[in-house]
Amino acid sequence: GQSIAVFTSGGDACGMNGAVRACVRMAVYLGCQAFMIREGYQGMVQGGDQFVKATWASVSSIIHVGGTIIGSARCKEFMEREGRKKAAYNLVQREINRLIVIGGDGSLTGANIFRIEWTGLLDDLVASGKITPQQREKCKDLHIVGVVGSIDNDFCGTDLTIGTDSALHRITEAIDSIASTAYSHQRIFIMEVMGRHCGYLAMVSGIISEADYVFCPEAPPPLDWHERLCSKLQKERECGQRLNIIIIAEGANDLNGEPITAQMVKQVIFDRLGWDSRITVLGHVQRGGATSAYDRILACRMGAEATVAVLESTATTTPVVIVLVNNQIERIPLMGAVERTQAVNKALQDKDWAKAIALRGVA
Ligand code: ATP
Repeated sequence: GQSIAVFTSGGDACGMNGAVRACVRMAVYLGCQAFMIREGYQGMVQGGDQFVKATWASVSSIIHVGGTIIGSARCKEFMEREGRKKAAYNLVQREINRLIVIGGDGSLTGANIFRIEWTGLLDDLVASGKITPQQREKCKDLHIVGVVGSIDNDFCGTDLTIGTDSALHRITEAIDSIASTAYSHQRIFIMEVMGRHCGYLAMVSGIISEADYVFCPEAPPPLDWHERLCSKLQKERECGQRLNIIIIAEGANDLNGEPITAQMVKQVIFDRLGWDSRITVLGHVQRGGATSAYDRILACRMGAEATVAVLESTATTTPVVIVLVNNQIERIPLMGAVERTQAVNKALQDKDWAKAIALRGVA
């Protein structure tokens, strides 16, 4: 049968293990040899025991575990052609030319560059005597499929990315525990959540915690937000509200593109109202912990589909990324989705908020 390899790359997310498990098990079920590559592209460039032959049993009991047990890394070497040549050598040695990459837009872009260069890399390896023409023939084309693992939900073309739901569970738990103690004292809590380019976590946490104000990267507040925020807080107090919650995405900014930080908001409240507030930066708490039921299911569905897609891929197939649309698992062109995602980030940099929101396609 065919050989496929799966690896995780970029920032880790809950559900990545479930996706690896599903990829491996679908491959085994279909009579293929599955490999797991440790430490992302770093392991692919290093070779040796970074390549692990996987069986049905080797991915048992990992579906619930957060992070990624096969490791993830950023790899400078893979950014260069020489590094990618080493990676190609390590794959061809094992007769692997079908890859499933679980990561963010950077990792998916890297895979596509690798795919486009593949034939040239193999020609180089034959010319330098590292592989035989027969080996090249066996691994003629590189087939890639992407699965998006990212807690920020910052990828275009999918309703959700793997890891977002678990991160929301962590944020909910944190807000609930803070709210219950805060309630006794009449307090203002400012919570910073993740999301450099995407306010999804902030927006959803804002709704579920009945927050008074939410700061998102793609929807900057009016320039007089200081005044609006403080008069809102004051009104709430007058109505007898004992607890106020303000949510800030780590990438929040104003209409001029200047960052809005938790510290700034705290200062504004103190200067205008003389009220003290507490800042909680959730940070890595959002990444860790148990994987939610929804992320486990999403990972199973996406991983299984990724293996089927990578095995069905032919020399003329456009590479795909596995996405969730209207609760259906679908394949869409990988680079189209990556480019749209990168265009959103560019629009945010250019302070074209309307364009960013329109491109992302989320109301
Ligand atoms: P996250 O959203 O968590 O940042 P990501 O996949 O976007 O995830 P990156 O750090 O951008 O994370 O990419 C991970 C790795 O993918 C890089 O360290 C590098 O090895 C590889 N990679 C990224 N972009 C490219 C590229 N343009 N060419 C080759 N390899 C790349």
